[in-house]
Amino acid sequence: MTPFRVTATDGNARAGVLTTAHGEVPTPVFMPVGTKATVKTLDPDEVRDLGARIILGNTYHLFFRPGDELIRDLGGLHRFMGWSGPILTDSGGFQVFSLRDTIARVDDDGVTFRSVYDGAPTRFTPELSARIQANLGSDVAMCLDHVPPVGIPRRKLEDAVRRTTEWARRQRHAERAEGQLRFGITQGGVDEELRRRSTEEIAELDFDGNAIGGLAIGEDRGAMFEATDRAAALMPAGKPRYFMGIGDPEGVLEVIEAGVDMFDCVLPTRTARTGSALTREGRLNLRNARYARDQGPLDEGCACPACRRFTRAYIRHLVNQREVLGLRLLSVHNLRFLVDLASGARAAIERGAFASYKRDWLERLT
Ligand SMILES: [Zn+2]
Repeated sequence: MTPFRVTATDGNARAGVLTTAHGEVPTPVFMPVGTKATVKTLDPDEVRDLGARIILGNTYHLFFRPGDELIRDLGGLHRFMGWSGPILTDSGGFQVFSLRDTIARVDDDGVTFRSVYDGAPTRFTPELSARIQANLGSDVAMCLDHVPPVGIPRRKLEDAVRRTTEWARRQRHAERAEGQLRFGITQGGVDEELRRRSTEEIAELDFDGNAIGGLAIGEDRGAMFEATDRAAALMPAGKPRYFMGIGDPEGVLEVIEAGVDMFDCVLPTRTARTGSALTREGRLNLRNARYARDQGPLDEGCACPACRRFTRAYIRHLVNQREVLGLRLLSVHNLRFLVDLASGARAAIERGAFASYKRDWLERLT
């Protein structure tokens, strides 16, 4: 059985369906991030009702707290967190390498670092990442990758590419949960040749899907989109393509246009924590005094529970008083915003109208 099928194309953009052990996922799809086995402040039913079809879990954090073996013993991550839909777990690589001060040593076997929780020395290898994700029982497991920072010398970027392929080769044969899909991750920054090399090497290993890693971490945006265009074009057309970590509307539309099928970002919940709403007219900071008497919804075009029922003035009040409900309503709305953006893109691709869908969005946002 092939886990992915493309159902429509429009230019390079595609609509498709990813089939997992816990259900089908129509693409393009935005995946809410549930780092610590929770999409922050939301009940799984709320996450499902706002249209999310697949969520992310985090290997790094769940390994330390509460522990992947505990979760396995309690029936796996789905049962543990009360979410019956598909779950994708990242490999832990991004967290290890973005908590740069905690890294003790990177070598070809793995990476040694101090836990962000208690400083305990820890070593991640491709085999351990596979085992943690097998214990969690996610539907899609990711390969451990070496994520270098922006602006390192090319020689070091090349090292990261080589190591990422080597680790992927090992993880390919490592354990996995029953029915669990496994995606490879490419590196190479915005370097054309290295990104190409990484993409070809990972594609050759024949994973169930392929991800673009190591972008959207502070490099020039134009260069990032060019690198994404080139990388997506080199990825196998019959497999899902996942851009790791993008959530601003412009970025999302750009990567979908390049042929990306899946993406995730903490932006919706992080933005909520700053008291801001993502809207079709741009970002709205509820702390601004101009909303004190505003009787309108967060976003005129949105049908989420927060917009159907509550005014900007009320949500502004909750945000200013640091009431939990304010955070929850903003999270619901912001997640719905991205879920809608992706499902709208899917519908536009099916109509052959993605270009005008994107143009309309960008005109309103600017
Ligand atoms: Zn809304």
